[in-house]
Amino acid sequence: MTAAQGARLLIVGPQGSGKGTQGVRIAEAFGIPAISTGDMFRAAIASGSELGTQVTEIIQAGNLVPDELTTAVVRDRLAQADAAHGFLLDGYPRNIGQVGDLDEFLGGRGEELDAVIELVVPREESIERLTVRAQEQGRNDDTEQIIANRLAIYERETAPILDVYRERGVVDEIDGVGTLDEITARVIAALEQRGLMRSAAA
Ligand code: AMP
Repeated sequence: MTAAQGARLLIVGPQGSGKGTQGVRIAEAFGIPAISTGDMFRAAIASGSELGTQVTEIIQAGNLVPDELTTAVVRDRLAQADAAHGFLLDGYPRNIGQVGDLDEFLGGRGEELDAVIELVVPREESIERLTVRAQEQGRNDDTEQIIANRLAIYERETAPILDVYRERGVVDEIDGVGTLDEITARVIAALEQRGLMRSAAA
């Protein structure tokens, strides 16, 4: 894998693991777009689009948007020119069904994920960070009860996707506790170990 070929990455971690922040940093280092389904849904809600209307209640309750809808949004995004040579997915796939959808889409382009970054953060730390974020950003899916629902969904639906990717040998487990810079450096070192090269511009 060379810089010219880019990198196809997925970042996975429970809510509050810092995956959004780290995702943006890693994508920048590798010169690829960070594609966050959560951000796309929040933007759709803010713009008042039809998609936004469809997902508002689901997201407020901390439940998962139906696979069909989510997969359609991701396929459209991955079909854009800036994702032709690599991308970092944040928040998708989030269950086994979506893993199958992504495999099908990437397989059709003769592609596959190069690495899956698992950010490992203790549950108490995730809850603490989410509570702080709720106060700072006023996200209305960050109340205590909804946080608990989202973490339960993560453990039930999302954690199992890591077993699938682990069997494929693409998972890098990264300790997600530390400063932002320390964690970014850990991720980059693990990806470089796989022969994935940072973009020269970064
Ligand atoms: P996030 O910012 O990744 O925590 O996503 C916020 C919310 O968007 C989630 O709680 C879900 O309601 C919805 N969402 C994001 N990604 C997905 C996905 N891949 N499948 C279903 N729902 C999703």
